[in-house]
Amino acid sequence: MLGLMMAEPLRVATIIEHAAKWHADTEIVSRRPEGGIHRYTYAAANARSKQLANALLKLGIENGDRVGTLAWNTHRHFELYYGVAGIGAVCHTINPRLFPEQLVYIINHAEDRILFFDLTFLPLVERLAPVCPTVEKWVLMTGSEHLPAHSELPGLCSYEDLLAAEAPHYGWPSFDENTACSLCYTSGTTDQPKGVLYSHRSTLLHALGISLPDALGCSALDVIMPVVPMFHVNAWGLPYAAPLNGAKLVLPGAGMDSASLFELMEAEGVTFSAGVPTIWLALLQFMREGHRKFSTLRRTVVGGSSCPPALMKAFENELHVTITHAWGMTETSPLGTASRLKAQQLELSTDEKAAVLATQGRAVFGVDMKIVGDDGHALPHDGVAFGDLLVRGPWVVRDYFRSPTPGELTADGWFRTGDVATIDPDGFMHITDRSKDVIKSGGEWISSIDLENLAVAHPAVAEAAVIGVPSARWSERPLLIIVRRPGLDVSAQEMLDFFKGKVAKFCEPDAVEFVDQLPHTATGKILKTQLRKDFAGYSVA
Ligand code: ADP
Repeated sequence: MLGLMMAEPLRVATIIEHAAKWHADTEIVSRRPEGGIHRYTYAAANARSKQLANALLKLGIENGDRVGTLAWNTHRHFELYYGVAGIGAVCHTINPRLFPEQLVYIINHAEDRILFFDLTFLPLVERLAPVCPTVEKWVLMTGSEHLPAHSELPGLCSYEDLLAAEAPHYGWPSFDENTACSLCYTSGTTDQPKGVLYSHRSTLLHALGISLPDALGCSALDVIMPVVPMFHVNAWGLPYAAPLNGAKLVLPGAGMDSASLFELMEAEGVTFSAGVPTIWLALLQFMREGHRKFSTLRRTVVGGSSCPPALMKAFENELHVTITHAWGMTETSPLGTASRLKAQQLELSTDEKAAVLATQGRAVFGVDMKIVGDDGHALPHDGVAFGDLLVRGPWVVRDYFRSPTPGELTADGWFRTGDVATIDPDGFMHITDRSKDVIKSGGEWISSIDLENLAVAHPAVAEAAVIGVPSARWSERPLLIIVRRPGLDVSAQEMLDFFKGKVAKFCEPDAVEFVDQLPHTATGKILKTQLRKDFAGYSVA
């Protein structure tokens, strides 16, 4: 027997409609890439998203068509999220920091029909356009005063001109909640980029899930600033969760440096933010240098790669900002787990609590997980056994977009994350490593993440990476690669001594190399594939 409740399909446009109706005056503030601050309300954002929807329909965009964006976190990008998805088309957010060959691959693979881009990326799109034949129209996301005098870009026009010609009235249509709404390619840290095609249903459920108090926790009292880019897994869902909860949204535009972030946080009273560890490591240094304090920031979510416990401690003790460590991936929308204490853990000592909070956390409702051994059998949740992490749930990918090899799931319907993890008896998951990064020394597995987290606790270390290098005796051994803090020195031997007694003897790195900087992926993670190339030929006894 079916229930007798309204069968209202879950749709992304209902979020902006809700915010426009019930949080009409709540603000969205953004730093424009072309300069200055833009400020308006959810009511105005909804009206402009409708103008955009009307413009897209006039341009012949149909259900399922892909519309690309190469853009920072701004109000116009926010309008694209809603305007494109609202008509049943697919908002394809493209990561501009990828290599040009990857961008060309992604745009052609997605067959984007229109491409919206920020002024910053004009030189880039001039190079991309001749090799991206599916793009019929290029739209510069600003006013016509910034249009170049001469350009070969097909159909080039300004975003503001496009909107100015349209009425702010449009009834968001209803359709199947499984309709695709956005598309994001994995950054290709390990492989060719793969497209993850989110649905209205998965996006809405994820936005509700991340809003829960023990997940990211969002409220109408919050002022939320996603530092994580809107081209990286939908800024972890915050452009949906903020209006859904009626929270003020602050979008930092192209200003991702610490000084600009701090200035905007203070000016707009940001209470809650989110981003990858690199951003927060840099911000911590900036805050320390100027003996600065946050006046409103209370919480930040750190994920995308492992958050060093030393960073969590420094934020809590020096800046009075609590870090929630979270885990996820493009394929999981992205939130999978978040590290929040359970009631019985409140009795633990400060150090014990810190150890729990440093894990990647427990499953958020909507994502189930398990760890399995090589034979595919589930391993115990004892905090010791480690194996491949598998997940499933309504916001986890089933197949990649236009994948030549459909059916990526296990026979019983789980998605293989490519991460190796433990799960403790309280359900806290700890990522040991990516399966491709784990160092296999003799019969033992060594976690590169654990060694990196320890290395950055040394006062002279700004950033650290550990990779496996060939060893005649052990097959692979850990090499520690370090960027020193400006003005501070540490020798290789001092670094090796620093690990003694802190990790099992067989886990201690064999060698240390110093570099001026580490290669990063487009989302700020350490690019280990590049490091492995840089140190090809390196070996230890
Ligand atoms: P890509 O796979 O292209 O690097 P993603 O952003 O999808 O892009 O990366 C997801 C991966 O990032 C996860 O599979 C995991 O290896 C890593 N990751 C994400 N969050 C964490 C975390 N909190 N701790 C450790 N690793 C993490």
